Amino acid sequence: MYHMSPEHVATEIGTRQLWHAVDCNGNTLCGQALSEKALHTPGVTPEDYCTTCMRAVGAAMASHTRQTHVASTGEGVLDDH
Ligand SMILES: [Zn+2]
Repeated sequence: MYHMSPEHVATEIGTRQLWHAVDCNGNTLCGQALSEKALHTPGVTPEDYCTTCMRAVGAAMASHTRQTHVASTGEGVLDDH
């Protein structure tokens, strides 16, 4: 469903890695275009997570959970006779 892809961001204190959530089409959930196919580079710190992507993943998870709950509950279980 989603995978994480790092983006290397140059800051005043050096390079840091920002993790984005990427869907099956290769698009980040926040809309950030990843210019390069950055690979996770051990030792490049600090690492951080894109808050917009994390929020999108959280919303997707919540939506999925809700749908699963509705599906498992089914219809016609309310008996008001
Ligand atoms: Zn992002």
